[in-house]
Amino acid sequence: ILNTPVLRRDHLIEYLHKLNDHHGHLAPRHIAALAHLMNLAQVEVFEVATFYHHFQVVDHDHGVAPRAIVRVCQSPSCRMAGSATLMAGIAQALPTDCRLEAVPCIGRCEQAPAVAIGQHEMGHAQCETVLSVLQQQTIQAQALSPESLSDYLQRHGYSSWLSLKSAQVSPESAIELLEQSGLRGLGGAGFPAGRKWRIVRNQPGQHWLAVNIDEGEPGTFKDRTYLEQHPHQFLEGVLIAAEVVQAQQVILYLRDEYHALRHRLTQEIAALQHHWRGHSLPNIELRRGAGAYVCGEESAMLESIEGKRGVPRQRPPYVAQQGLFGHPTLVHNAETLYWVPKLLREGTDWFTRAGRHGRQGLRSFSVSGRVAKPGVALAPAGITLRELVDEYCGGMQTGHTLYGYLPGGASGGMLPAALADIPLDFDTLQEHGCFIGSAAVVVFSQMDSALDIARHLMNFFVHESCGQCTPCRSGTEKASQLMQQNHWNIPLLQDLSQVMRDASICGLGQAAPNPLDCLLRHFPHEVPKAGTGEVA
Ligand code: SF4
Repeated sequence: ILNTPVLRRDHLIEYLHKLNDHHGHLAPRHIAALAHLMNLAQVEVFEVATFYHHFQVVDHDHGVAPRAIVRVCQSPSCRMAGSATLMAGIAQALPTDCRLEAVPCIGRCEQAPAVAIGQHEMGHAQCETVLSVLQQQTIQAQALSPESLSDYLQRHGYSSWLSLKSAQVSPESAIELLEQSGLRGLGGAGFPAGRKWRIVRNQPGQHWLAVNIDEGEPGTFKDRTYLEQHPHQFLEGVLIAAEVVQAQQVILYLRDEYHALRHRLTQEIAALQHHWRGHSLPNIELRRGAGAYVCGEESAMLESIEGKRGVPRQRPPYVAQQGLFGHPTLVHNAETLYWVPKLLREGTDWFTRAGRHGRQGLRSFSVSGRVAKPGVALAPAGITLRELVDEYCGGMQTGHTLYGYLPGGASGGMLPAALADIPLDFDTLQEHGCFIGSAAVVVFSQMDSALDIARHLMNFFVHESCGQCTPCRSGTEKASQLMQQNHWNIPLLQDLSQVMRDASICGLGQAAPNPLDCLLRHFPHEVPKAGTGEVA
């Protein structure tokens, strides 16, 4: 940090990462020194450091940093794959200079159970392999082998962006093509991409582009999968979007757990900048998230990029009008941009002619849980859960029969097997109290309990609430306590659910009651008997 010529306020989280990586924690002396160097009040640094789960803030200056922190994922898919047993096994033989933590999700649900050892990510983790990695003195992040820049150029990579740069294609016709394709934001909100681009392009002043690769929804791993395979297809989408909305500043906000991807993206961005030097590229910065689920919410992500706590903003103004540093900002999910070069190069037919049950387009589903072949399935929009599992995931695992599923990760609610033949789309799911969000499908079987999943997810929301508004901060906590009781006060739980939905500021608090409400509606046989169930 001392070698950095000018310390930037918006880079505060990056500096905290450097300190935390180096020392294994953040002690009072680190906070004080950074505050001094940045000319900030210590409390300003402290409040940011304590907001994010990945910073180990300690209250003394003499602690010995652990040699490695082992994070065992507790997402629903990892729990089904035995993460509790794995955690217990590691705990028994953990070297004394290492630390073990249970974490809500590390974004490798298709490789459950997943573990991160420092910056070394491990899928299908077994106790022996974790312990053998811990015996190594230096624990390295893994290397990825994605499609290279030259391979991408050979399949006409960057030609769509060059067509725009050379004015063969106008920004207006690029926007029209996106509108024809019906491409929507694929992070969860589903706002039409073309319309979003037009709104930002028409705003006065300097424009920014912020790409959300935080992908924190438990069950979602599609962005990581695509970027690990074809980073330049994504980066071309970034350049196209920046060109159309005239953004000179681009920020890629990457999930902190994706260490291997971060190292690789850094290299590929450098390769891109070198190859296209002299082509007036926008300035591209890669930023690390720090383990806050709420930063998947677009305005919270912008706050985090500005180096603050990731607390969602009140709207209006919308981020397209006043986003990063007060400038009009195009905020996109990574997958949305990933498809843009192909649409511009090959037209919209390949995309629009797909679809089932009256729906149009393609959709990337992250499928995990009790299926035989978990992974990303690029499937027709409108496909049903049963079709998805049978045609794309090799059916259910041996010995498991379908009992239910989460159609949209932790926040999208839960449905029973009896509703496995409805189209997985926004409108249909909404009729059943669910939503598809980023299409994170977690399948569970007769070996699992919907009650256990609902309790677990409510705890997750307690952990992840940013605490800004009372309905979410206190509502999730009280609901979680009530849900642990053997006799449930159902009217009180329903009341809490309604208040969270009606009065929470952002989508996290509004969606937090979904697993609870779905349990009451679709799995009534698992709901504990009625009682007063009052807690303080
Ligand atoms: Fe924060 Fe929850 Fe309120 Fe969203 S709903 S602003 S996460 S407290």
